[in-house]
Amino acid sequence: MIQPTNDPEKSNSEKALPTKSGAKFYWIYLVLFILILLTSTLLQNKTSKEITWQQFENDILSTKSVDKINVINNEKAEVYIKSSLANNPAFKEVFTQKKGDKPTEGPHYSFSIGSIESFEKKIDLAQANFSPQEKVKITYSKSSNWILNIMGWFLPLLLMFFVWNFIINRSQRGGIGGGGNPMFNFGKSNATLVEREKSTINFEDVAGLEEAEMEVREIIDFLKNPEQFTKLGAKIPKGVILVGPPGTGKTLLAKAVAGEAQVPFFSISGSEFVEMFVGVGASRVRDLFKRAKEKAPCIIFIDEIDAIGRSRGKGAFLTGANDERESTLNQLLTEMDGFGTNSGVIVLAATNRADMLDAALLRPGRFDRHIYLELPNLKEREEIFNVHIKPLVKDETLDVKFLAAQTPGFSGADIANICNESALIAARKKNDKVGRQDFLDAIDRTVAGLEKKSKIISPEEKKIIAYHEAGHAVISWLLKKVDPLIKVSIIPRGKSLGAAWYLPEEKQLRSASAFKEYLCATLGGRASEEITFGDISSGALDDLEKVTKEAYMMVAIYGFNDKIGNISFYDSTGQRDAGIQKPYGEETGNMIDQEVRKLIGDVYKQAIEILTSNKNSLIKVAELLLQKEVIFKEDLEAIMGKRSSEEVNLAIENEEQILIS
Ligand code: ATP
Repeated sequence: MIQPTNDPEKSNSEKALPTKSGAKFYWIYLVLFILILLTSTLLQNKTSKEITWQQFENDILSTKSVDKINVINNEKAEVYIKSSLANNPAFKEVFTQKKGDKPTEGPHYSFSIGSIESFEKKIDLAQANFSPQEKVKITYSKSSNWILNIMGWFLPLLLMFFVWNFIINRSQRGGIGGGGNPMFNFGKSNATLVEREKSTINFEDVAGLEEAEMEVREIIDFLKNPEQFTKLGAKIPKGVILVGPPGTGKTLLAKAVAGEAQVPFFSISGSEFVEMFVGVGASRVRDLFKRAKEKAPCIIFIDEIDAIGRSRGKGAFLTGANDERESTLNQLLTEMDGFGTNSGVIVLAATNRADMLDAALLRPGRFDRHIYLELPNLKEREEIFNVHIKPLVKDETLDVKFLAAQTPGFSGADIANICNESALIAARKKNDKVGRQDFLDAIDRTVAGLEKKSKIISPEEKKIIAYHEAGHAVISWLLKKVDPLIKVSIIPRGKSLGAAWYLPEEKQLRSASAFKEYLCATLGGRASEEITFGDISSGALDDLEKVTKEAYMMVAIYGFNDKIGNISFYDSTGQRDAGIQKPYGEETGNMIDQEVRKLIGDVYKQAIEILTSNKNSLIKVAELLLQKEVIFKEDLEAIMGKRSSEEVNLAIENEEQILIS
């Protein structure tokens, strides 16, 4: 994720660009304004008064005041009044525009004639009683309004020009370093450049990534002192790819590398290469490398590189329009080949999906160094908490270790968010320090969403929710291999109406029986509803989704099913489009479906059995929940006794991720 540069000077200069180029077009606005003014003045300059046929016939023609009529373009009749009537009060107004003006020659009146035929018919009829001498002379002429003609072709051109200019400016927005005419800035890369003296992030801001830091330190040494390496003939990797789940600090690490090495840092997201115009991506890649070479030694950071680096040819069947992305990728490959190892440009890239990347991108000589960032463990979380807690006014008694233990499965970004959220919660409560409870509230909020006490829930629904959650709680308390339960709540939060909080142990392996027990605890909610009310509700949707996914994984991926055998249909390369290509035949597909159904049916039966034989505990837990809304491990201990697998109790040194059901 590219962070916006926080440098006000820079952003100002960036913002200034469009205005600067826009200034060149001010004369266009001026010309347009003058033209409009001119047109309106000329059009205003007409002297004839607009009237209707009836007015003409009754007031003018019948009084025999007309000298002649001139029909223009077969559309409009211009009426000239006899000059002898110039002083007649009825016509004085149309003869003189202003007081003291000389009488005008005309036309004095005008009106639209529908068609020539009808006009001639009407005028003949109106003059039926006139003597031949009295009949009005009618002439026909053609006239063209040159201004309107010019505007007719000039305005569309002008409009096209403005639209074009607008598109170009839009495609330039956020870009820097282009300058000049925006029309030629099309293929310029819009990477953000952080100059060496402006980079403020260093390794102090990055916590818990020691191994990754060690790996990138070599790059910093090279950027600072290349001779040390080159004199021994060593080649420095051109590209380093950082792989890890979202929020694990990939962007942060890349920025810290630039900050530590004190070199300029070009930062761009993969998706920014490809815009709506064909060929722009490749040209932006070229431009980025050109600019980087000018600034060498420097770092180019390409975030979300999978946006352009996805395997070529993959997915083309579905999207059809991969050519632009592929040509951008080809250009990136060419550029990475094109610069020498010692040119001082190092490309760092980040992705969440290394398996999607094209093999050519990852081969030695391109992104040959891969650094894997994982979700932080307990100790690393503590370090990250320490970094983000530093700027807060916190309670001195705050136990950071405890906070780290409460946040298994959280990424660095989540922890940063919790620290900020806890400060907001404390401020909302008007506390002068951020305390333990504020952090716990922030964690709950991040895990399960905002508490929604105002959600209207009827007493019957509340009872169903309580029994549902109690079902999860009782089964997970009784089954040994389910992660330890720490809290159950029936206060609605986010989208859920109730939740059970578990503190999973960090295990690298999970047995088939542990999977089954997890499925059983997850179905405990529905089973409890069935045995208590004799009816089931839609509240188990989330549980069913989880159970179905896990069951398919057990059967088709982990080889836990006797009938399917030790076969896995998993594709770790990500090359196969699971949506359209099934790696098994129809018969196996049917068998997988049947086995999944059987597995889920069996564990559901087990859940019903456990709850039926522990109905008293179920009722006690549910009633306590209805009474207190939130119950903790201690309350469950009081009802059901110590958990049989208590040895796993708070093995929180090694937890993995938190689960909610
Ligand atoms: P994405 O894959 O979504 O782009 P990312 O891995 O690039 O995510 P960052 O943008 O680097 O994640 O992290 C987001 C924020 O999380 C950082 O700005 C920082 O505040 C915090 N953070 C993440 N990891 C760490 C860490 N190891 N130490 C300190 N802060 C961290």
